[in-house]
Amino acid sequence: MAVIIDGKKISAQIKEEVKEKVEQLAQEGIQVTLAVIQVGKDSASSVYVGNKKKACEYVGIRSLSYELEEEVSQEELLSLIEELNGRKDVNGILVQLPLPKHISEESVIRAIDPRKDVDAFHPVNVGSLCIGAPGLVSCTPAGIIQLLKRSGVEIAGKECVVVGRSNIVGKPVALLLLQENGTVTVAHSRTRNLKEITRRADILVVAVGKRQMITREYVKEGAVVIDVGIHREEGSKKLYGDVDFESVEPVCSAITPVPGGVGPMTIAMLMYNCVESLKLQ
Ligand code: NDP
Repeated sequence: MAVIIDGKKISAQIKEEVKEKVEQLAQEGIQVTLAVIQVGKDSASSVYVGNKKKACEYVGIRSLSYELEEEVSQEELLSLIEELNGRKDVNGILVQLPLPKHISEESVIRAIDPRKDVDAFHPVNVGSLCIGAPGLVSCTPAGIIQLLKRSGVEIAGKECVVVGRSNIVGKPVALLLLQENGTVTVAHSRTRNLKEITRRADILVVAVGKRQMITREYVKEGAVVIDVGIHREEGSKKLYGDVDFESVEPVCSAITPVPGGVGPMTIAMLMYNCVESLKLQ
């Protein structure tokens, strides 16, 4: 039986730690503040934004909410970001993605002051991660490393295979595993003989965006498997990962479930970044 890596429990621990830090800062007269911008009323985005605000409330971070019309111009959005960049009482800025088609996500990401960029998508933060300089680390990849460390999984010297090379998950998680001294391979849609490569992994991180694609044939006996995928079955509330849990669980030594694995870590690390960002300011 594999160990089930409990993301709910680990994310709760992290939120408690953040809560303590936020209280300490408050005693020193520092109020941690996150500005959350949502454009339009996409229902999935509203759920994510609502969860982020709830987490802020729980850990004692003040959240400022900006709900902009779907039709808002790029210039208006950029000028709001500019204003928030300049405000001393705001230390984190988050723009909920995706944005409507008439707004360039890249321009918006680049407009946020990297020191307030709690999602850590700005090229300065991505570059800092690449060279190991101080900066903010994006939440889902940072959460994956926390899951491994806090479950006692040693990364140094291990064969780590990441399936997926997106800018928000695959690439940053590969860089973090490398920083932790793993031997890292990144696989993608053009990779040949994927099964042969994934079967080398002591630590297999799957962020492929294909429901239950990774079955036991892809996994070495005793591997640690981290499933980043989230797929909602139409018409039901049931969630699935990129890993076929039933098939893989009997062969691996530890695995994250979906839900309750990587998912809860993302918001916990966002809270962590809100506090970390203060150090950069
Ligand atoms: P993307 O669609 O941006 O990237 C998917 C990656 O998988 C690409 O690099 C693609 O390769 C690669 N890929 C696609 N098909 C194959 C294949 N058959 N074999 C090998 N590689 C393949 O996805 P994201 O990184 O944004 O997200 C991945 C998953 O994680 C999704 O299910 C998403 O919902 C989930 N997610 C979960 C989060 C959480 O908080 N738990 C946060 C973010 C994402 P190529 O580059 O060649 O196209």
